[in-house]
Amino acid sequence: MSTVWFRDRDGEIRRGTVSAAADGQWRLTAAAPDQRGTADAPFHGVVVGQFTDWHVHLQLVDAGDLAAGVLGRVLDLGAHPERVVAHRAAPPRGVRVEFAGAFLTAPGGYPSDRDWAPAGSFRELADAADASAAVAEMAAHGASVIKVASNADAGPVLSDELFRAVVAAAESAGLPVVAHAEGAGEATRVRRLGAKMLAHTPFTERLEPAELRAHADTMTWISTLDVHGWGAGGAAFETARENLAGFHALGGEVRYGTDLGNGPLPVGLNPRELAALAGAGLTPRDMLTALTPADPELPDTRLVFVPGPDTARLDVAAARPLAAPDLVPSGSPAGPPAGSPLGSVPRASAADGHTPTDGTDPTGGTGPTEPTDPTDPTRPAAKEQR
Ligand SMILES: [Zn+2]
Repeated sequence: MSTVWFRDRDGEIRRGTVSAAADGQWRLTAAAPDQRGTADAPFHGVVVGQFTDWHVHLQLVDAGDLAAGVLGRVLDLGAHPERVVAHRAAPPRGVRVEFAGAFLTAPGGYPSDRDWAPAGSFRELADAADASAAVAEMAAHGASVIKVASNADAGPVLSDELFRAVVAAAESAGLPVVAHAEGAGEATRVRRLGAKMLAHTPFTERLEPAELRAHADTMTWISTLDVHGWGAGGAAFETARENLAGFHALGGEVRYGTDLGNGPLPVGLNPRELAALAGAGLTPRDMLTALTPADPELPDTRLVFVPGPDTARLDVAAARPLAAPDLVPSGSPAGPPAGSPLGSVPRASAADGHTPTDGTDPTGGTGPTEPTDPTDPTRPAAKEQR
């Protein structure tokens, strides 16, 4: 058994213990509430639950490459519903699959004309009856969100009336609408029409401050910064990064997403996406929030270790499945001297190999806690696990 710092489901950094279970997995047990602030081991990182990538396309990658490492869950935002259901039934190496099913679009609209969008992976909606039928079909397959493609630069998009019909049908099915908004004014239009999430940080144009404010108050943005340029930057990347910086500064809810399957993106955690998030002003703890880690106290959650000398300097890109070398045994000589003040971390001895800390609170003070998101499509499933 080893004492650790961990990030709980509310985003707070707390103390706990980790031990190996009979199935070979690590199990985390929270310390009693009155021990929350005590520091009886040096800080060298936090234990968290596995992360989620909120924007992938499993039909465009070799899903077998998606090893259950630090990613424990993905949201597929556009695929042939039967294929993605098959992925969910036989998850690629332990990764839990949530999905939207087919892209809903206007007749002839994006991505119906794309080589990468095979027959069955989109539905072209001509009227409100088509909208309800498509939403009902995806809901019957087990979709947790509805995806609407609204790319005005690439062809026709749904009329306001038809977009609203999709939103209404999705709301009756208890599903939020995630929109791909591209083209002048589309991010604003889909927000006004009732979309709850954007599949991409807006990248067509800089949003005006009032518009950013409205998004921050009502929308969740899936980041996908690195899909613009794949490390080379460019105008769309810069526009998206600046929009995300403004949205985040206003308290908007950011989710980590890569658009995996769209170009040369690494299968797994993308360090370039994380670097881009840092460039938009997200701290390591903000990044962890965007990665929506699974509740580490649930027995089924696989644990991940994020190294760092304190919570302000966690190296999120270096996150790895928790392993024995990441743990300091309880009662190790690296513990604090008697009488060390509550809530502080002692200077680690040079002999224990850990980076000495400066004696400040490793939790970086009381961070913001994340409220439960009513639009979280996976919320009912998470409840089930508890
Ligand atoms: Zn996509």
